[in-house]
Amino acid sequence: MNPCNLCPRHCGIDRTNGKIGFCQAGNAPRVFRFGPHFGEEPPICGETGSGTVFFSRCTLKCIYCQNSPWSWKGEGKDLSVEELTDIFRSLAVKHKCANWNLVSPTPYLPFIRKAVAPLKDEGVSLPFVYNSSGYEDVNTLKEYRDLCDIALVDLRYSRESTAIEGSSAKDYVKHSRETLRYFWETLGKLNCSKDNPLATRGVICRILVLPGHADEAIENLQWLHDEISNEIHVSVMSQYAPAYIANERAPWNRVLEEEEYDAVVETAEILGFENGWIQSYESRDTSSDLVGENMTEGEGVVRDDK
Ligand code: SF4
Repeated sequence: MNPCNLCPRHCGIDRTNGKIGFCQAGNAPRVFRFGPHFGEEPPICGETGSGTVFFSRCTLKCIYCQNSPWSWKGEGKDLSVEELTDIFRSLAVKHKCANWNLVSPTPYLPFIRKAVAPLKDEGVSLPFVYNSSGYEDVNTLKEYRDLCDIALVDLRYSRESTAIEGSSAKDYVKHSRETLRYFWETLGKLNCSKDNPLATRGVICRILVLPGHADEAIENLQWLHDEISNEIHVSVMSQYAPAYIANERAPWNRVLEEEEYDAVVETAEILGFENGWIQSYESRDTSSDLVGENMTEGEGVVRDDK
């Protein structure tokens, strides 16, 4: 963090000395919410849920972000490393979660590694889910290889101009594709099966279809087919709902049209992807509920609005 070059923004500032970069993450792990989460793909949740930690701040600025209270505005609480250790312990020992699911962890990777170190000595260990927008620096991923067993990674855009408009990230396409390639080469196919429904290693690529940009989802499916493998688990999602700044901007201010979503689904079928999930158009949730609400009650709301 001195200088901080953890993500492709490469701010190069000294976060250990009060400086703030693009993501506005500071010199402590900031967490909005944690707890068993049942809203991920089935091999991630199992029966006990995915032990999810929603970190505050984000290296992207998506105008449609459903998590804007903590991703843009930073709601949450700065924790000590010891408090973060307690969270990981609670998810593993008390809740017996299937894994530790790190949501947008990139600015806090050094703290996360420190927090889990004592747990290894206690014999407490779970697979890590690296839950990412795809906007990662592969050198950082290599350095923190120990914090990723399952990669849950988005491919959002296939045109850099759209990535600038939607997420203020001019090099998103380049970095997300490098990230996918790296994870596929190091982790490979998701290791779940009928007999072994809970994954402990591998890659899931999420394709969130965006209104007015379904052609980019199609291009990304084609890229996965051509450059990665038809064996990769793909999760095609229809659930886009306008939120935050997107409410004011077309075409981001509408839900998907059925025809544009059908074209993406048809492409996935024609290309012959063998594994994954396709959300039906009818089952999409068009509300703007916070993702973190989809949790069991009573655990882990870490709020400090000051
Ligand atoms: S993690 Fe934050 S401070 Fe560090 S390079 Fe990325 S945006 Fe900048």
